[in-house]
Amino acid sequence: MKILLIDPFYNNGVVPPNYSLGEIEKYIVDTNVEIEVIDFVHKNKIENLDEFKKLENDFINKIVEKVKKETNAIIYITTSYGIPLKQKPVYPRVKKILKEIRENNSMIPVYVGGATVNYAQKELGINLQDYEENVTDIIYGDEIKFVDILSEKYGIETKDIGIIKWNNWNWEKYPKHISLLSAKGCPSACNFCFENKIFDNKYIRNNIDLLIENIKYLVKEKGITNFAIEDSSFLFNIDFEYFCDKIIKDNININWTCYAKVFQINKYHNLLEKMKNAGCTSIIIGIETTNNEDLEKLQKGITNDEINKMIGYMNEVEIGIQGCFMVGMPNSSREHIIQSVKYAKQLDLFLYRWHIFQLPLIEIHNTVDKTVKPEDYFTMQLNVPDNCLDEVLSNINKPILLLNEEHFLIRGLRYIDEENAAFGNISNSIVTYKELFKILKDNINLDAIFDEEEMYNKIGKEK
Ligand code: SF4
Repeated sequence: MKILLIDPFYNNGVVPPNYSLGEIEKYIVDTNVEIEVIDFVHKNKIENLDEFKKLENDFINKIVEKVKKETNAIIYITTSYGIPLKQKPVYPRVKKILKEIRENNSMIPVYVGGATVNYAQKELGINLQDYEENVTDIIYGDEIKFVDILSEKYGIETKDIGIIKWNNWNWEKYPKHISLLSAKGCPSACNFCFENKIFDNKYIRNNIDLLIENIKYLVKEKGITNFAIEDSSFLFNIDFEYFCDKIIKDNININWTCYAKVFQINKYHNLLEKMKNAGCTSIIIGIETTNNEDLEKLQKGITNDEINKMIGYMNEVEIGIQGCFMVGMPNSSREHIIQSVKYAKQLDLFLYRWHIFQLPLIEIHNTVDKTVKPEDYFTMQLNVPDNCLDEVLSNINKPILLLNEEHFLIRGLRYIDEENAAFGNISNSIVTYKELFKILKDNINLDAIFDEEEMYNKIGKEK
């Protein structure tokens, strides 16, 4: 018996191995079942979309060649981008993979799960099974349910060994840092965010010692010393102080970054020094906007004063701030946007993560364009190199769908000529995307924006 774990996301070698697949490996690695990971990592620069499409075909053909030979295998395809909480429009590629698998092996069981299918179900009300004939089953919720299927349906004696060994990834292709989680889900209710919905507002916490053991293992066995703790907010974990104490006491020499909320930094400011001593180099913090009216509309539960207080505390201990900001909120005025962007810039943060307000497809249908349907989400394929994004977006079937993709701004800022972009006149606020791109380009330092392709490696290393 063999389990094929497929990570369909293109990765230029800066995103760590997929955490969801790592968790599945944890339950099978010490059984007599063979595991093989097939991923789409390509480290060299890709010049244009034609070259990318060729590499994409090579990746799919690699899967086909494997599948043709397998008589006793089960396939799992994740749609989580790196971690179980992140979706990214990738479905056309997954569909192609499923079709090719079926055409070349009609018997092999194929399961699909992860953030993108969860997003489709929870946000769009779509059951992928209704649109996809080439899949055995869709796994909703936690991807670890695939492990239950392996034992209940296929009689595999899975066992949780606690530590993810990452034995089935080619580490030459990946960066020298890794993403880990101490908990899944988010108990907050920010109305623009999907992370709280994916696990139904539940917050599922693991034993913090497990996180520490996983870190120790990776330091010792793989030489990894940089970590991204990808919980929605690590400071929701009541054991985060214990974590810091233990890292310091056991003399584990690592750098790490995590997410936290503004109010938590203010509440736990007396622990920031300890976090720094335990290796925390920067924290990703959702500031979104510095305008009080807009903060209220987003139900962030914070004010501009509290943001300033947080920045003061962080600067005092010299932990870098990766500030998440959002532009293009419905009902936000042009003045508010410009004011917020200018204010953000003068804060001189370690990194900036700019997003657009993501409008649910159902709202796009109701308020912007009646021809948009929830299932259109499955036609979006934006998992391409950032330098190919301009070409992809100029050929996109319905540019209006970009209202639903919060990351296209941050990815496109360096590469897209907004003057000629097909999406230029689209808007979910009174400011068009063309204007938004221009406001940002005129007012921010492009070198300080978080660019996944260039700067992921910076996380955890320096501030
Ligand atoms: S705290 Fe962060 S992850 Fe949680 S709902 Fe708000 S924006 Fe989303």
